[in-house]
Amino acid sequence: MEYIIDRIRECVDKNRKEYIGFLSEYIQKDSTNPALGENKAPFACHLWMQKKLEEYGIFDKVDFWKSGNDFSNVAAVSEGEGEPLLFAGHTDTVPVTELQKAEWREDAGPWSGAVKEGKIYGRGASDMKAGCAAPLMAMHVLHKLGVKPKRPLYFTYVMSEENGGREFGVDSIIERGYFAKECIVMEPSNNLAIVPAIQGEFYFTIEVQGLSYHIASRHHTLYPHGYHVKNVPGKNAIELAIELIGELQKLEKELGQYANHPLTEWGSTTINFSGIESKGIFSAGAEKCKITGSMLYNPSISQEEAFAYFKGAVNRAAERSFWLKEHPPVVTIPYLLSAKPPVNVEMEHPLCRQLAEAARAFGREPVYESCLSTSDANYLQDHGIAAITMGPGANEYGVHGVNEYVPVEVYLESIARYAYFLSKQ
Ligand SMILES: [Zn+2]
Repeated sequence: MEYIIDRIRECVDKNRKEYIGFLSEYIQKDSTNPALGENKAPFACHLWMQKKLEEYGIFDKVDFWKSGNDFSNVAAVSEGEGEPLLFAGHTDTVPVTELQKAEWREDAGPWSGAVKEGKIYGRGASDMKAGCAAPLMAMHVLHKLGVKPKRPLYFTYVMSEENGGREFGVDSIIERGYFAKECIVMEPSNNLAIVPAIQGEFYFTIEVQGLSYHIASRHHTLYPHGYHVKNVPGKNAIELAIELIGELQKLEKELGQYANHPLTEWGSTTINFSGIESKGIFSAGAEKCKITGSMLYNPSISQEEAFAYFKGAVNRAAERSFWLKEHPPVVTIPYLLSAKPPVNVEMEHPLCRQLAEAARAFGREPVYESCLSTSDANYLQDHGIAAITMGPGANEYGVHGVNEYVPVEVYLESIARYAYFLSKQ
């Protein structure tokens, strides 16, 4: 066994109080995403982090900057030679709703950071303050052991992930100069699974144009006796929308059956409809209709292909309809959020191999998984960065829900694994 493994293990054990304390305090600083909920002191958590990291004295630079009106970012830098490596995390959390507050256990509240039965509780414990803290504490371990990684390292923390806001988060990090071709994202990965593949995602709207008519003329819209086909008295926009939805459902099934990646389940490509809007008067056929929804797609499909498949399905439905041929539906992609391209890093990538070695160093068989939900890793991918996710925490520990926690042992193991991984950088 390598000498360093035992030394890391000993050091984590010796400083466990410090490492648990850091995470507890981090959780106690409310970092509710300012765009999603109320946060009276949106900078407090990152300012605390900056101060704390400066006090440790183990980084060459600790950078804090405001981004937009309510957001802020922190970067801790370890200087070195060669290609830099980025660690990317988000400090912001989703809000705790009134109902969640009422349901949350009283002795370990959402901003308590309390340790009960071997679990650290609080909003963000799993998603993703444990993941954010772990590589910093790993640097603390290496510092104690007198090991300094050779590569430049950027540990970066944003406040605008949960609202999908890349502009003030990930984009601001890159603009500030913390670019690296390779990145570790410390999002909860089902207890430290290595995640080289994440679905792509985009939101869309489809606007459909019909022609309003009196309900007493409906039979003529169906059987236009005496009317030229191009001159029907009306066309129901909701019914046109149903045809489009049907074609998109066929596409969903096709791609679900054929688009595959070694780490995904069948059927991982889905098209979800979240709204269908049509405002007409009660005694008339619907004149306009707007469909909103999202498409999540397999990492083996590129963003360009996904857009083309989607638009192709809408066009196919439109081609079959005399009306839609003349009044083509208007597709808007991406809608609302910037589209997230899939992450698809090869499993043989050096970072994957090194993360696997770090698992084995502490007696674990490395587990590879793909992820169905997107994160900043997708936006990093959009910057041309190979982003691999690995972090403590798991959805089953109450992520975005009630009684969120992270098991102490998983958190401490993540510190040890990152420390080993970083010792090789
Ligand atoms: Zn997260």
